[in-house]
Amino acid sequence: MLMNVKAVLNIPGTEVPVDCAVSPERLETVTQIHGYRFVSPLTLKGVIRNRAGVATLQAQVACTLELTCDRCLKPFTRDFCYEGSHVIVRNLDNADEDDADMDDYVIARAESIDTDEIAVSDLVLELPSKMLCREDCKGLCPVCGADRNEVDCGHMSE
Ligand SMILES: [Zn+2]
Ligand SMILES: [Zn+2]
Repeated sequence: MLMNVKAVLNIPGTEVPVDCAVSPERLETVTQIHGYRFVSPLTLKGVIRNRAGVATLQAQVACTLELTCDRCLKPFTRDFCYEGSHVIVRNLDNADEDDADMDDYVIARAESIDTDEIAVSDLVLELPSKMLCREDCKGLCPVCGADRNEVDCGHMSE
């Protein structure tokens, strides 16, 4: 969704709420690229504040994903929620490139920001690369393929 941020960019002291969900079409492409299956919509909720002329988006991305454990291959669902903040600029000339962590900047093209884009990139950046059904998942036995969380097949005993 494109959100017009002209007022909050221009007027110091302004504050606007952000509360939106990423379109199903956009989530479809995330599923295709990254393999994440969404059980609930991906939401972006927070606020944009202009403090002394600098507009900052402070928001939380949240969703529920259906995943497959990387170790035991069992399907599971999990809620994810990440807090992020971005400085909104009209172009990167305004950004201080010296302490530039470009991810912290959002460029408002034609005075609008793409909330779908922000939510998706924040989520993808924060998600762990390994998805485990639980922290101490024992995985499958490399000898017989048994789920070692459920049975002790005796192949891996120390
Ligand atoms: Zn597992
Ligand atoms: Zn075994």
